[in-house]
Amino acid sequence: MSARRPLIAGNWKMNGLRADARALADEIGTLRKNKSQDAFDLLICPPFSVIETVGHVLDSTGIFLGAQDCHTAEKGAHTGDVSAAMLKDAGCSHVILGHSERRTNHKESNELVKQKAIAAHNEGLIAIICVGETETERENGKTLEVVTAQIKDSVPEGARADNTVIAYEPVWAIGTGKVATPDDVQNVHGDIRKTLAAKLGQETADGIRILYGGSMKPENAKELLALPDVDGGLIGGAALKAEDFWAIAQSC
Ligand code: PGA
Repeated sequence: MSARRPLIAGNWKMNGLRADARALADEIGTLRKNKSQDAFDLLICPPFSVIETVGHVLDSTGIFLGAQDCHTAEKGAHTGDVSAAMLKDAGCSHVILGHSERRTNHKESNELVKQKAIAAHNEGLIAIICVGETETERENGKTLEVVTAQIKDSVPEGARADNTVIAYEPVWAIGTGKVATPDDVQNVHGDIRKTLAAKLGQETADGIRILYGGSMKPENAKELLALPDVDGGLIGGAALKAEDFWAIAQSC
């Protein structure tokens, strides 16, 4: 197995006015500065409005800065949207794409997610492409079918280990306190890696990090992060508490 460095990513979603965002980033940055930096990468993805504020706080902490979406176009007449070039310009290195909340609330298709990933790659950003089945799909035994189709159709052909991360987030586990069992998680992650290998080649697939997301907390992180094909976490709720986020990272 290749040495995949774990990535612990905080998805702040639509949370954080400037003062709170600054304080939270500062707390996380302080924890990071005081401890060993060797075992994992840390990433914070705040809302667009506080990206620069958080970026200033994170300067010199070694924590990466990311966003939660981007448009497919470089610039132009797209009211309310933000381009990958703008994210890069604001100091981002990563962008979350195709999160289930965007797939649901904004009707984002696999094809759209793929075009966004291409736009992100063209700007030198690392695309974190999210996939995951709904509760109904899971109950109907369709988990692997749904996730395989999402990987096939959302991941661009130009994806590489250094520009792409996958996040498996079962929709029913997001923000609900329900977590997939370690066996289920490993099974899906292993399958995702096989699908990536068929699409991009074994070497690339072996290098791509696959994160688990969905109610990850300090109490369950160790067991999940120890699974062979789990290379980190995409954390929502627990990323809004510095101690919890740090404790999850310490479980790597
Ligand atoms: P959660 O969210 O950790 O609050 O379940 C994860 C996510 O949606 O990325």
